[in-house]
Amino acid sequence: MVAENKHPSGKARAGRAVTIWRTDIFRLLAQPLGEVVGGPTAKALESLKLATVADLLGHLPRRYLTGAETTDLGGLQPGDDVAVVARVQRMTHVQASASTPGVRNKIGRDRLEVVLTDGTGFLNVTFFGRERMVRFWQAQLSEGVKGIFVGKVGIFRNQLQMTHPNFVMLDSRGRIVGRANEEKSAMAAMVSRSGLVGIYPASSKIPTWRVGECASFVLQTLDGVGDPMPAALRDRLGLLSLLDAYSEIHRPDTLAGAERGVARLKFDEALALQITMAYRRADASHFTAAPVHPRADGLLAVFDARLPFELTPGQRGVSDEIFADLARARPMQRLLQGEVGSGKTVVALRAMLAEVDAGRQAALLAPTEVLASQHLDTFRSLLGDLSAGQVLGAPDEATEVVLLTGSLTATQKREAQAKISDGRAGIVVGTHALLSDQVSFADLGMVVIDEQHRFGVEQRAVLQRRAELVPHLLVLTATPIPRSIAMTVFGDLEISTLREIPAGRQDVQTTVVSLRDHPAWLGRAWERIGEEVAQGRQVFVVCPRISISDDDVFADDEHPPSAAVEQLHAQLASGPLRDVAVGLLHSRLPAADKDATMTAFNAGELDVLVATTVIEVGVDVPNASMMVIMDADRFGISQLHQLRGRIGRGAHPGVCLLVTHVDVNSDAGQRLAAVAASRDGFELAEVDLEQRREGDVLGASQTGGRSTLRLLSVLTDADLIAQTRQIAEELVAADPDRADDWLADMVTATEIDAAGDWLERS
Ligand code: ADP
Ligand code: MG
Repeated sequence: MVAENKHPSGKARAGRAVTIWRTDIFRLLAQPLGEVVGGPTAKALESLKLATVADLLGHLPRRYLTGAETTDLGGLQPGDDVAVVARVQRMTHVQASASTPGVRNKIGRDRLEVVLTDGTGFLNVTFFGRERMVRFWQAQLSEGVKGIFVGKVGIFRNQLQMTHPNFVMLDSRGRIVGRANEEKSAMAAMVSRSGLVGIYPASSKIPTWRVGECASFVLQTLDGVGDPMPAALRDRLGLLSLLDAYSEIHRPDTLAGAERGVARLKFDEALALQITMAYRRADASHFTAAPVHPRADGLLAVFDARLPFELTPGQRGVSDEIFADLARARPMQRLLQGEVGSGKTVVALRAMLAEVDAGRQAALLAPTEVLASQHLDTFRSLLGDLSAGQVLGAPDEATEVVLLTGSLTATQKREAQAKISDGRAGIVVGTHALLSDQVSFADLGMVVIDEQHRFGVEQRAVLQRRAELVPHLLVLTATPIPRSIAMTVFGDLEISTLREIPAGRQDVQTTVVSLRDHPAWLGRAWERIGEEVAQGRQVFVVCPRISISDDDVFADDEHPPSAAVEQLHAQLASGPLRDVAVGLLHSRLPAADKDATMTAFNAGELDVLVATTVIEVGVDVPNASMMVIMDADRFGISQLHQLRGRIGRGAHPGVCLLVTHVDVNSDAGQRLAAVAASRDGFELAEVDLEQRREGDVLGASQTGGRSTLRLLSVLTDADLIAQTRQIAEELVAADPDRADDWLADMVTATEIDAAGDWLERS
């Protein structure tokens, strides 16, 4: 029988080739727990999502208790699996017959009620049993004496309590008293060894003390195995060896030691990720791409000559970086970040045109259909007759710009696919439909991905693998990316930044409209919209949701329901804005309706668009000069900034009203004030980062191919990430062929993780 392939993150990969680990430690860490601790225990550990030795050893105690220390009972929460160190305040043996009136004791058993105290607070502990058992427990516990109580905190009659905890009594020096059974000796062993007890995340299948026992046991089986990290590196960085680190974590002598243990694991996690990225960058340099040299007489030259504006110095600089990449015979791997409206699209289009001039195709991948059609319109209007293909009268340089999305009819799709596969389409714009196997390019030379954060590493690899030579890759993002994230999520890409907004970009005046302080301002906002429309401009009204639901019957004056586009659209169109053309846009509308509405708004046939955040990215209507964001406090800082980027894109200064019911001094109110005070996306991204939690920051994006980081935080470990990137660069440069077993295993572990996460999401 072939062993299932397991790996350090613990998920079984049945049906795949068995991973060949090159170092003993990685091989041992990858062992399934069943082979080490036995089936039943492994099954119990599975409830904690622990499948391999590495999983278990990487399962860190939430905190540590010392035998001498007393738990703060005030800090307990219902549902916690805890080990409480506390003194027995008093005990009461309640006989079945003498049960408290009103409390049904249906099993007819006696009860031992124990009150624990930490000196100030109290916790009730209850044991049920026959009279003999209750007397036995009572004899083990003694009033005034301290013990460890391990169990789950519940609630009974509005008070916290534990039922039937495992417990051990400690003498004045923190040593175990009383008779020991298996459980108690395990707890005793931990406590008496060092006086520090790790409290692990546990489950109803396996309590914390057994998790600790398993970890200690597994650790013993690794005794004597060497650390593959070079000792010189370890010493230079003051790190523990891997086994010492595990030992300090699971059998700690001191808290400082445990912290050093965690520091080593965290370092390894950061370094493995950076080594993988460094090899990806190095490997990409081994792939061959077709070099592109701009021509003086091609499509790009004609386009540039016709461009109605001057490129900004920033656009020129970034274009230079891109053309330098394209001129090489290895694939470009570049991320272009820049403010909404900083002119990324024009920069990307110029690179695509150079690719077409070189006789190849370029594809642009957009995250939504709305954005794909927008790009198509933008390209066609910028290119004019250069985009109509080789029709009669078209310039010689002309190519065809083709759209491919999921909502095309079968006939339209076939037609688009035909043009893509015979090469008539020089530029292809599409959604993930482009990733389908049915789409084959004649000669794909370049892939541009817009708003990368919604695509994974794996997806961009799919398109890049679609060609003989590896296509050049350009990723565009309007979300300013703090450095630590750039180095993890986008660690395999070079980064270009557009900081300036093209000259002539209009000022946008942002004001917080506090309805709590000034309810009448809402009516004034609608009047202001009327005035804007009267001057021939267009207006967005953005709401946090589509429809008001039944939940809202629970809303009250303190918590009014948030605005919904369906209701607000109806209300405005029949009330304050009845004299202007008001459209409605949200994601649940049929694609055809969405298109029709966007087209009408683009054409100026609609004055006001009441919409959800579908307009957040990419929508480009220069005549739109005003935006009213309802319940703006429901949106994040970056999102508000993105939304606001939709206005002030034309000849007219913009007005943005952030309407809210919250107190201006609350956190949410302060967030709105920050948005009103700054239009610098990079500055706002930093404020945002401070306010958000890890998961929100990474969102759906992957981290170097993994959707999760374990110990590492992109928020707080920026320095470690930078440090390990540097070290990884050096290690990989010294060993480009993965001759070193440790480096090879670090990469294998990361990639197996990536494959696992990818499978789970697809
Ligand atoms: P982004 O993709 O970064 O949001 P776009 O490329 O869509 O920005 O540009 C936003 C708007 O600014 C478009 O209408 C575009 O035509 C215009 N634009 C781009 N570059 C310049 C420039 N150098 N000068 C003036 N307008 C520009
Ligand atoms: Mg754009």
